[in-house]
Amino acid sequence: MNAPLPSAILGVDGLNISNSFAELPPSFYTRLMPTPLPAPYLVGVSPSAAALIQLDPAAFADERFLQVFTGNQTLPASKPLAAVYSGHQFGVWAGQLGDGRAILLGEVPAPGTPGPNTLELQLKGAGLTPYSRMGDGRAVLRSSIREFLCSEAMAALGIPTSRALCVTGSDKYVMREAPEPTAVATRMAPSFVRFGSFEHWFYAEQDDNLKTLADYVIDRHYPALREQPNPYRSLLAEVTRRTAHLIAQWQAVGFMHGVMNTDNMSILGLTLDYGPFGFMDAFDAQHVCNHTDQNGRYSYSMQPQVGHWNCYALGQALLPLIGDVDEVQQALECYKPEFAAKLDQLLHAKLGLQSTRTEDAALIEQLFAALQGSRVDFTLFFRRLGDLHIDNPAADQPLRDLFIDRAAFDAWAQQYRARLTQEASIDTVRRHAMHRVNPKYVLRNHLAQIAIEKAQNKDFSEIERLLKVLENPFGEQAENDRYAALPPDWASELEVSCSS
Ligand code: AMP
Ligand code: MG
Repeated sequence: MNAPLPSAILGVDGLNISNSFAELPPSFYTRLMPTPLPAPYLVGVSPSAAALIQLDPAAFADERFLQVFTGNQTLPASKPLAAVYSGHQFGVWAGQLGDGRAILLGEVPAPGTPGPNTLELQLKGAGLTPYSRMGDGRAVLRSSIREFLCSEAMAALGIPTSRALCVTGSDKYVMREAPEPTAVATRMAPSFVRFGSFEHWFYAEQDDNLKTLADYVIDRHYPALREQPNPYRSLLAEVTRRTAHLIAQWQAVGFMHGVMNTDNMSILGLTLDYGPFGFMDAFDAQHVCNHTDQNGRYSYSMQPQVGHWNCYALGQALLPLIGDVDEVQQALECYKPEFAAKLDQLLHAKLGLQSTRTEDAALIEQLFAALQGSRVDFTLFFRRLGDLHIDNPAADQPLRDLFIDRAAFDAWAQQYRARLTQEASIDTVRRHAMHRVNPKYVLRNHLAQIAIEKAQNKDFSEIERLLKVLENPFGEQAENDRYAALPPDWASELEVSCSS
């Protein structure tokens, strides 16, 4: 859950912006201004994101806020730039990519943020850059709203992520499958450096730039690693560990990223670059949320492996600095155990188990088989499981009703009850603990879709309402029950693709 808002104090021009990335050699980026958009309007704002940079929410109403975060006006001290990076897309080396539509304004103080206590401000959809390739440098309203809502929802779920300050829109249309209105999303993260930023210099065989980048990242974001015998090896190990933990958190909440290309993997272990993501509704381990991903490379069940693969790609890129293949291998070895331990810990919490026993693996396996067999709604299941009474199976009805195969549920529930009894679990205590880790509210596709369609008709009220609901995902919020309901039939026809 988000921390209560500290007293925000700054107006837009009070933001003390600087740009450490712009101090890197010019080959790392291109300095350029955002391209203005005509007649922008405010689509959504996140007060809790604003609080991180001590921005007064009253500033949202300022014309200056609107113009600056559309890219039409600049903060005088900002040094806008687009960064270069490369990456593996769908497992294939794609060569140079780079910020094709995102422009980094610089970083501002963010007391309490890990690392250098700053957050970078980046405008996504702010116009053409030298890295736009075939693209138009823009982002559409639809995908910007999705990124905005999901960034904030993930933060509230306690999952590491880039944040979103606001979305502004414009009636300038761009072509996707059909013409769509454009938007600019302002994202915030301590750094937007990606695995692909390192791959870029490795494949260009420019070890000096590779080292410059690694030193920059270590000095700003991992200063403790400087003390290690081989800081680059330690960097790889730490990023690998964070990535393993991140993906365990995704699995535990049923989040699918959709495009886990190495250019979308954060060097800080944050969820980054929201595109065709999805939250699991009816459980299917093979579910592919990205309609463009024909081979299911980024399906739910593949995410852990792909995370590991991506760390290998980073390891490869860092090899010239680490100096020894065996050291690279060793740094990567933590992935599997870290992932397994983290997921195990999260699943135990989701099941309300306080202790760990060897038999738990079978209990968990049997549960996932039952969820799969009945295509049970992932979020509803874990939430309702918290309401289980050990001694009163008759009260299980709302939970049991989620299963087509009632016998499978009954068989599992019997074992689960026995397991709870073994550790003398107390219903009320367990319920309380489980409801703190099993969200009632997640950003299901259809919820985002409703907010998007209203916004396309200039009604932004649903974005604000949905954001408020998602900021408190573990709360009961009885008045918002409809946001926790099963998706309507039309939701299964929603196709989310790479087009954004
Ligand atoms: P993504 O799949 O969104 O991670 O994007 C992959 C690459 O394509 C990145 O370099 C993006 O900056 C670039 N890109 C995506 N959409 C556009 C666009 N509309 N215009 C320019 N570049 C884009
Ligand atoms: Mg990307």
